[in-house]
Amino acid sequence: MDGYSFELITGPMSCGKTEELLRRIKRCIIAKKKVTVISPEVDTRENGDYIKSRNGLWLDAIKVKHSIQILSLVKDSEVVAIDELQFFDSNIVRVITELMKQGKKVIGTGLELDFKAEPFGHMPELMCIATNVDKLHAVCMKCGCEHATRTQRLIDGKPADKSSPLIMIGGDETYEARCIKCYELPDAEHDKKIQSDLGISKILQFTKR
Ligand SMILES: [Zn+2]
Repeated sequence: MDGYSFELITGPMSCGKTEELLRRIKRCIIAKKKVTVISPEVDTRENGDYIKSRNGLWLDAIKVKHSIQILSLVKDSEVVAIDELQFFDSNIVRVITELMKQGKKVIGTGLELDFKAEPFGHMPELMCIATNVDKLHAVCMKCGCEHATRTQRLIDGKPADKSSPLIMIGGDETYEARCIKCYELPDAEHDKKIQSDLGISKILQFTKR
């Protein structure tokens, strides 16, 4: 075994993270390495026990609920590939550190920012312990530039409000990649506060006269 590594592939939705992961896994398979592919059970994008990139490539994956389970699943593997790292619990940082101590090659993907453009799950710590980080960009779905770094959440085709619930009941919810200029995050509560503050200052102005 030629030493440990943790390659992390990150970026917004539709930047080709899973496609890149599959490309790297295929190289390991060609090199006759023993590879195990893990994905979190919460990922509802696919129902079967496999990961699939948007261009149709797919590979068998073991669905895991708690990150600690990974350790017993990959005992004989030389390469451990983990998709959608942003969905794992806090133990994932310790688990990947342990896999590196065992001399394994870990390749992972994860969304770095959530729809509010805040760090997603334990991605910040994972980016710190990674031996290599690749940040991929997507094509902005609004202006077409190639620097989309944000994941825009849309509810019934409109930008989702900052306080919109993480799990939507009814309503057509979609996500798309956008650049920093086209990314929108309406904040109705904040706007209401500003409006009421303005209202108060108007009343104060009026009473001063
Ligand atoms: Zn744009």
